[in-house]
Amino acid sequence: MQTSLKNSPDFSQIRAQFPILQQTENGQPLVYLDNGATAQKPLSVIEAMDTYYRTQNANVHRGVYGLSERATELYEGARETVRQFLNAQSTKEIIFVRGTTEAINLVAFSWARANLTRDDEIIVTEMEHHSNIVPWQLLRDQLGIKLSVLRMNHLGEICLEALKGMVSAKTKLLAVTQMSNALGTINPVKEMVRIAHSVGAKVLVDGAQATPHMAVDVHDLDCDFYALSGHKMYGPTGIGVLYAKQALLEAMPPYQAGGDMIYSVTFEKTEYNVLPYKFEAGTPHIAGAIGLAAAIRFIESIGLEHIAAHEADLLAYATAELKKIDGLRIIGEAKHKGGVVSFVIEGVHPHDMATLMDQEGIALRASHHCAMPVMQHFNVPATIRASFGVYNNHADIDRLVAAILEAKSMLL
Ligand code: PMP
Repeated sequence: MQTSLKNSPDFSQIRAQFPILQQTENGQPLVYLDNGATAQKPLSVIEAMDTYYRTQNANVHRGVYGLSERATELYEGARETVRQFLNAQSTKEIIFVRGTTEAINLVAFSWARANLTRDDEIIVTEMEHHSNIVPWQLLRDQLGIKLSVLRMNHLGEICLEALKGMVSAKTKLLAVTQMSNALGTINPVKEMVRIAHSVGAKVLVDGAQATPHMAVDVHDLDCDFYALSGHKMYGPTGIGVLYAKQALLEAMPPYQAGGDMIYSVTFEKTEYNVLPYKFEAGTPHIAGAIGLAAAIRFIESIGLEHIAAHEADLLAYATAELKKIDGLRIIGEAKHKGGVVSFVIEGVHPHDMATLMDQEGIALRASHHCAMPVMQHFNVPATIRASFGVYNNHADIDRLVAAILEAKSMLL
């Protein structure tokens, strides 16, 4: 029994829905533990996209013929699925983009450039992914704004009191990840929003890691912007979402220009389209949006409360088993953590370990996880990271532990 909730679904049945997990790597059954980088895709997502390309493909919002109308219905239906998933007020607040990175850049290039001036402040946390640091650095260099860093403690946690002490009338934006990809820390985003709003600052939440693992309600969080990536939540690559409050989007200038984002064009003047199309220039990733909607239906068919309980069990089991290994140090021990274990092993370079794991058919990540400041904080060049998804089980963790012990005996 791996979960404690009543009516827990059969997770071995769920695992069976992922064709890639039936294959071998280097002669061993694949153990996939790199879900923080991207998740595998269930049949329902693969089939939704396959059916679209086989029988429904046409451009959207344009054709007067049936096929195009049906493609448009599917694309706009996907938007409604995302709206419900996030509990946004309106589909006008759901902008399809390539992923979290593009969503954050959209806010940086459109909202921030229109609203921030020299000496205004943006606060990011020390555990942000590079995609929630570098866009703000570009603004700092171009507009002369101030970029401040909310530090974390030795466990990898944010201190709310420290945030309270930092914000001021100069603070215009707090950009924070809901869950750290490098450490697994889940941040108290709702309280952080309240603190930022108390000085009139807006809040952007990076939800790339959170949405596959926990229920998100943007209305309840009251965040101003929320970014997610389809590929981390069992959907396709190349599709993601920027949620933003409607009033902000109405006032923001377009980010990219081209077809679909206009209402009328003359050489003298262009009138922009209504929301959400104002921010979706060009032909969108129609199959991607359809695949993302299928991924949301997949997640909802299991229930995020069951997914969270399953992954909490995997995290507890992996943490306990890994801690038994001599010389292994876990990086990131926040009280509130999602299914990510980052660790280092004394005397072993993380990359050597990951290479040996690969030979055993175990896919995991050894790197700075696009969060170099986190590595600097813990004074390590890189960590080995096992990150869990719905299809992982105790047997995966047992294989990981056995492979680490064997690799250690070879390397040391
Ligand atoms: N933020 C976090 C916390 C992430 O983990 C990632 C992906 N590793 C991103 C942002 C960027 O997501 P994407 O590459 O899908 O744009």
